[in-house]
Amino acid sequence: MSTESKIQYVTVAGAHVTVTPHPDEKVTKASCGGCSQYENEAWHLDYFRGGESYAAQYAEELTREWVQARAEKCRALPRG
Ligand SMILES: [Zn+2]
Repeated sequence: MSTESKIQYVTVAGAHVTVTPHPDEKVTKASCGGCSQYENEAWHLDYFRGGESYAAQYAEELTREWVQARAEKCRALPRG
């Protein structure tokens, strides 16, 4: 699994919601390209039972609900 990977979801207004793992900071960050809302999901020690890639994957799954809610509800136009 690449540490550079970004997962993008598209909001109803066409903005991208991006999920990016940051192994150096042990956190997965999700941010909305429409409004300025974001969500950080820290990789807790418990997640490392299955190794670092598992921790990253688990944190990503935890951000998914937030990401999908953003994608469905955010009507802010894409920035930039
Ligand atoms: Zn938004």
